[in-house]
Amino acid sequence: MKQNLHTHTVFCDGEDTPEAFVKEAIARGFDSIGFSGHGYAFFDDEYCMSREGTKAYRDALLSLRDQYRDQIKIYIGVEQDYFSDPVSYQWDFVIGSVHNLLVDGEIYALDLGRELIERTAAEHFGGDIYSLIAEYYKLESRVVQVTGCDIIGHFDLISKYNEDCSLFDPHHPDYVEMWSRALDNIFTGADVGSFWTGAQRTGVSSSEAPIFEINTGAMTGGYRTVPYPSIDILRSVCARGGRILFSSDSHKKEAIENYFDVARDLALEAGFTERTVLTDEGFVQIPL
Ligand SMILES: [Zn+2]
Ligand SMILES: [Zn+2]
Repeated sequence: MKQNLHTHTVFCDGEDTPEAFVKEAIARGFDSIGFSGHGYAFFDDEYCMSREGTKAYRDALLSLRDQYRDQIKIYIGVEQDYFSDPVSYQWDFVIGSVHNLLVDGEIYALDLGRELIERTAAEHFGGDIYSLIAEYYKLESRVVQVTGCDIIGHFDLISKYNEDCSLFDPHHPDYVEMWSRALDNIFTGADVGSFWTGAQRTGVSSSEAPIFEINTGAMTGGYRTVPYPSIDILRSVCARGGRILFSSDSHKKEAIENYFDVARDLALEAGFTERTVLTDEGFVQIPL
């Protein structure tokens, strides 16, 4: 089953219209496509949707869903940042992501270049990159409660500019401890907040286990040669009974299934045998 739920259009920071994405997906034989415009956040008017823009986005997609009903299934979602306003609509799905830190009342982006991360560490964390990363995973550990997401977006985004390991050591015990504790929290304490089940998660059963995306967006952008999250994190997610789905975080239509073969290999290597897809009955597991 071909599906990608993580796409950005001209309604936020993407290059193509929703209809261009829909046509591309149909041409590539997709069964369904999901849209995940950046949810409104008070500090940003460039990459997020405005409040009015969010309504226009939703209206446009509702109408496209109707128009292409016989050719493809369209799911209408949102990618909520940790600091986005609470969701204002009943979306088909929500991706929850940490793109920013809030330090001393100011927002600092983590995905706008390595220099900004280094400067933020120097100016606000005494030059200690691991203190900055601890703040990142503290937010990540609460991303499900705070955003009410169904899908945890690019869990280790902090590693975007670290493929050469020169920003930090991904095997440093402190780093491993930080992401492990974030996973502990997500797996034991989170309210999945799913639109589909409406249920409070009290333990990990297969249908309620948190869903992490294997996100190939930074590969398309040329920042990484492997998807998020790292193999170490994926192995831990797998061992804990978590679920995965593939997404390309595409900001242009040509990228809607970029590197899904790499994502699949990574999933197999981490021990997964199934992936999650969204259907009209909710999220279901299918073989990899
Ligand atoms: Zn994102
Ligand atoms: Zn995104």
